[in-house]
Amino acid sequence: MERLLIKKILKEEIVDQTVLIKGWIRSIRKSKKFSFVVLNDGTSQGSLQIVVDAELENYEEVSTLLIGSSVAITGLLVPSGGKGQKVEMQAKSVEIIGKTDESYPLQKKATSLEFLRENAHLRMRTNAFGAIFRVRHELAMATHKFFSDKGFYYLNSPIISAVDGEGAGEMFRVSTLDSKNPALNDKGEVDFTQDYFGKEVSLCVTGQLEGECFASGMGAIYTFGPTFRAENSNTPRHLSEFWMIEPEVAFADLDDIADLASEYVQYLIAHALEHCKDELDFLVTRHGADIDATHLDMLAHVRDTKFVKITYTEAIEILSNSKQKFEFPTVWGKELQTEHERFLSEKHFKAPVIVTDYPADCKAFYMKQNEDGKTVRAMDVLVPGVGEIIGGSQREEDYDKLIAKMDADGMEKEGYWWYTDLRKYGSVPHAGFGLGFERAIMYITGMSNIRDVIPFPRNPKSCDF
Ligand code: ATP
Ligand code: MN
Repeated sequence: MERLLIKKILKEEIVDQTVLIKGWIRSIRKSKKFSFVVLNDGTSQGSLQIVVDAELENYEEVSTLLIGSSVAITGLLVPSGGKGQKVEMQAKSVEIIGKTDESYPLQKKATSLEFLRENAHLRMRTNAFGAIFRVRHELAMATHKFFSDKGFYYLNSPIISAVDGEGAGEMFRVSTLDSKNPALNDKGEVDFTQDYFGKEVSLCVTGQLEGECFASGMGAIYTFGPTFRAENSNTPRHLSEFWMIEPEVAFADLDDIADLASEYVQYLIAHALEHCKDELDFLVTRHGADIDATHLDMLAHVRDTKFVKITYTEAIEILSNSKQKFEFPTVWGKELQTEHERFLSEKHFKAPVIVTDYPADCKAFYMKQNEDGKTVRAMDVLVPGVGEIIGGSQREEDYDKLIAKMDADGMEKEGYWWYTDLRKYGSVPHAGFGLGFERAIMYITGMSNIRDVIPFPRNPKSCDF
C-alpha cells in the first residue's frame, strides 16, 4: 500500500479510505479496550490520532511503546468527534519500526528551549521546532521565487576566499599546514606560500565582491549561501556561521535597493502568512512563548505599509532627543548599537525603518562616498524585536575614490585587483544588500534567540552536532 503523508490526510480531510502512514509517536495512552496513539511524520503542524483496538495481534507490544518510537500503521480513516481534529484512524495493523527507551529526552513534560538546544539532534521532533524549520524552508523557497520572478540570476559565490570582503578582519583561516609544526619563513612567521593555496585564505564573510562581478555583466544576481564570521559576539543575534541572501544590481542606486529590500521583506511576510499559518499560530500561542499576542497582526500591518526611511543624522537626532537612557552614547559618528536600533524600530516608529547615509568610518570600504565627504550611501533595515536584518549600500564605482579609501583604511590592495578592475572596465552605478536569513526568520517567527532558528548553531566555544 502506498504511504500517505499526514499533511495530506489532514488538509484534504480524507475519510473512508484504508491507508498507510509512517511516523514517530508523540503520545500514547492506554485504556482497557483501546490505546490512543498520536503520530506525527514531520509534514505538518497537526498530528493524527490513531485508535488501536486491543484485539490487534501485537497489541501488548504496541500498547507499551514509548514516546518517540517509529511505527508504520495501516488503518481506516474515519470522521472524528474529537476536539480540534476532523479525521482519525482506526488501526488495522501496526508495524513497529524503531523503539525508544526511558532515556529518550523528549518526554511529555514541557521542555525548555535551552534544553532542546542541547538536544539539537532531536529538537525537530517537537511541535515548536517542526514549525520553525518548516517556516525556514518556506522562506528559502519564497526567496528563490521572489528573485527569480524578477529576473535575478542565482549565483553561488565561493566559500573559500583570499580577500576580506568586509575589511573587518573577522575571518576563519582555512589551512592544511601542520598546526603543530607549520612551515616558517626567514622572519620566523608562518609561511603561507607553502600552504594548500599558496597563500593565506579564509572562509567568506560575504559573497558581495564576487556578486558585484556578476552583476557587472549579467545585470542582477543574488547569492544565497553560508557566511562565516569569527566575531566574538555571544549574543542572541549573532552566529559564527549563518546564511545570507545578497542581491546585487547594476545600474541601480541606494533608493532602488532600499525599495527592493522592503519589497523582499514584505514578500517574505506575505508568503509566511499565507503558507505557514498553522506554524505561526502554533508559535505565538505555544506554552511559555514570550511572543506578543498581536505578532501576526503586526506582520500583516508591516506587509501592507511602506517602510519608514530616515538618514543616520536624523536617527541620531531622534535618539538624542528621546527620554530613553542608553548604555552607549548617541553622538554623531558612532555606530548605532542594537539598543538604538531597537528603540528606533520598536518604540519610536513601531515599524521597520531604513536608516541611510551613515558616517564613512562606521562602514565598509566599498560604499559609495557622498558629496559631503563624511557619509556613505549605506542603508540598514531595522525591525522591531531583532534590530538590523539587512545591511546594504550603493557601491563606490569610481576607481580613484575606491583606491584612495582602501589606502586610507590601510588595506593591502594586492588581492583585490580583480575587484578594483571592475571600476576600470565599463564601470556602472550598482548597489546591493545582505539579508541575514536567520535574522529574518527570527523576525517572522517571533523567536528571540538566533540559535533556535538555524538547524545546528555555531558560536564561540560551541560547535556540536
Ligand atoms: P551586526 O551589526 O548586527 O553585527 P553587521 O553590520 O555586521 O551586523 P553586515 O555586515 O551588514 O552586518 O551583514 C549583513 C546582514 O547579515 C546583517 O544585516 C545581519 O542580518 C546579518 N548578520 C551579520 N552578522 C551576523 C551574524 N554574526 N550572525 C547572524 N547574522 C548576521
Ligand atoms: Mn556584525
